[in-house]
Parts: sequence; structure tokens; C-alpha cells
Amino acid sequence: MTTPTIELKPSAHPLPAAEREAILANPGFGRHFTDHMVTIRWAEGRGWHDAQLVPYGPISLDPSTHVLHYGQEIFEGLKAYRQPDGSVALFRPEANARRFRNSARRMAMAELPEELFIAALDALLTQDADWVPPHGGEESLYLRPFMFASETGLGVHPANEYLFMLIASPSGAYFAGGVKPVTIWVSEDHVRAVPGGTGDAKTGGNYAASLLPQAEAAAHGCDQVVYLDAVTRTKVEESGSMNIAFVYGDRIVTPELTGSILEGITRDSLLQVARDLGYTAEEGVVTLQQWREDAASGALTEVFACGTAAVVTPIGHVKTKSDGWSHGDGTPGPVTLRLREALLGLQRGVTEDKHGWMHKLG
Ligand SMILES: *Cc1c(COP(=O)(O)O)cnc(C)c1O
Repeated sequence: MTTPTIELKPSAHPLPAAEREAILANPGFGRHFTDHMVTIRWAEGRGWHDAQLVPYGPISLDPSTHVLHYGQEIFEGLKAYRQPDGSVALFRPEANARRFRNSARRMAMAELPEELFIAALDALLTQDADWVPPHGGEESLYLRPFMFASETGLGVHPANEYLFMLIASPSGAYFAGGVKPVTIWVSEDHVRAVPGGTGDAKTGGNYAASLLPQAEAAAHGCDQVVYLDAVTRTKVEESGSMNIAFVYGDRIVTPELTGSILEGITRDSLLQVARDLGYTAEEGVVTLQQWREDAASGALTEVFACGTAAVVTPIGHVKTKSDGWSHGDGTPGPVTLRLREALLGLQRGVTEDKHGWMHKLG
């Protein structure tokens, strides 16, 4: 079976430039979508076929479509940045392509070849390049590849048909008015993922399971949830859509990958960027009790969450069912800010790309 090429069927009616620019001036997150999308189908015995770039729009599904009942779905998230020379570059798309295949394998889905994943990104970005916000700010174009079981019928088995789609949405500065530390709720009653489960796959079901704890966090005046390991309920894992890191002076520690933690590309990049800047950056175990004690003693100087959407988010306060504590004085810590600036500088093409992470179009 050969890898299909993407057939271009562009819209005859893209959004007028003035309307597009009005959206780009204040895009928010995930509210507006570009003029086009990519769709690729897979069927047993046929493989990948029918790869198209088409106008963005609704799709029609039979009510018995597998994904609506059994949730066989995976997704990715990455950003394209306008470079100083006006070109467009993606940050580490090969890593997303690889993770998408890993997620597919765990969810018993067809694995999209990595070169087809990249070709889809290239095709959409080339067509909708005008939707990438100008260089200078923190704005970017967020790309959302996803795939779901499109077979019809209610039998429970890995589907024999899948639909891959790629959509794009201009994304504003995550923190309008500057980076502000968030307050974290430690979920002691609910877990996100279990050993042997799907925690290391980027699948919608993990997010569905996180909505109740997220609502609980909001009810306690918190912005985000941090989860503990499911077995001992003592070790810090991650924050549901972001990984977490602890700063002890010049040493940065992030929870080691246990199978129930999603392997964030921002996490991995920051481990490298931190080492490049001369910090010690390592994977290890941090328990909730250690977190509490080290915050009290002052050994723990900063804590941050990291992921594609918000890049690096300082964690200022922590609440549990029984207590709460703070890090620093309520402003973002210097290490957190330095790492954030270093990563954004790379992504926006203003600092040298030593690791070959930027994927330029064309
Ligand atoms: C996507 C995701 C992250 C962050 O991954 P990045 O590749 O850095 O964006 C962290 N945790 C979970 C559960 C995720 O789904």
C-alpha cells in the first residue's frame, strides 16, 4: 500500500482579508478556524487513501459511528510561528507525528505514517499561511490533528475504518496582560490515569475523565488540577493537560515517565533548554508530602506547569483537601521566566535553533 498524496481542493470563498485580520487581532484560543482542513481516510484492506485539503466545514456522521459510542479517538496539538523573515515554522512536528503513532497503537487504531502527518501540516499551512499571526507577539497558529473510528455499527472491536483530520486555529497570547501564577488543586479523590491504562496516549477519554476534577478545582477557587499516582496516591504525576516541574535553586525536577504520564514535547524540550542554560534538569519522583515540606522549608523555590498551549505557567499556590501553601511572593519566579523566554525565543526564531527543532515550510 502506498502513501497517498494530498489532493488540493481549495475554497472558492476564503474569508476576506479584512475579516481575517480582525480575528488575528484578538484570536483567543480555539474559537476561530482557518479556511481549510485536511482529511485522510483509512480502511482495512485499503490502507490510507482519499487524502484531501478541502474547505473547513462540518462533517456528517452516521449515528452508529464507533467513536460516538466507544470513544476510539486520539489527537495532537502543536503550533506554527511566524519567523522574523516572514516565513512560517513548526516546532518539533516530528515529535508529534511519532507520539500520534504511539497513541494510535495504544488505542488499537491505524498508525498514520509520520511523513503523511507532516505532509498534512505542510499542505494546510501552505494554503492558510495568511492565518499565521505576524512575528513579534506570542500569537501563533495552533494545529489540531485528530483521528477517530469512523466505522458504523455497534459491535465492540477495533474499527476497520478511521478518519484523520487536521484543523487550525489562530491562538492569542495565553496570558493577556503578562504571565500570572495560577492556583493548583491537588486531586486526592480522582486519578487521571492508572498503570497499564491510557495515560500516556493523547486520547479524548483522558480529558473527559478530567472534567469532573477540573470542576471540583474551580469550585475550590483553583485554576488547574494536579493528579497523584493512582496506586499510592502520594507521587505527583501531572496537570491533566500540562506536565509539571519543580525548581530547587539551580536544579529542576520533573516526574519521571511512568506510563501514566503523557510525554509532553514541551517537557522534553525544557529539560534540554534548561541544561543548555546551565541548570541541572532531571526526571525523578516528587511526593505530595515532599512538595509540602520543601515549600515550607524554602528548598523548593518555584513550580511550573508546561505544555504547548500555555508554554510555561508558574504555579503560585497549591490547595489540597486539608491545607494549602504558596511558592515565592505571588510573582513568576526567575527560573520559570527564563525558561519560558528561552523556549519562546527558539519558537519565534530569535534565538539559535541548536537542536534542529524548527521545521520550516517549503
Ligand atoms: C498534550 C498534553 C501535555 C503536554 O504535551 P505537549 O506536547 O507539551 O503539548 C501534557 N499532559 C497531557 C495529559 C497532554 O494531553
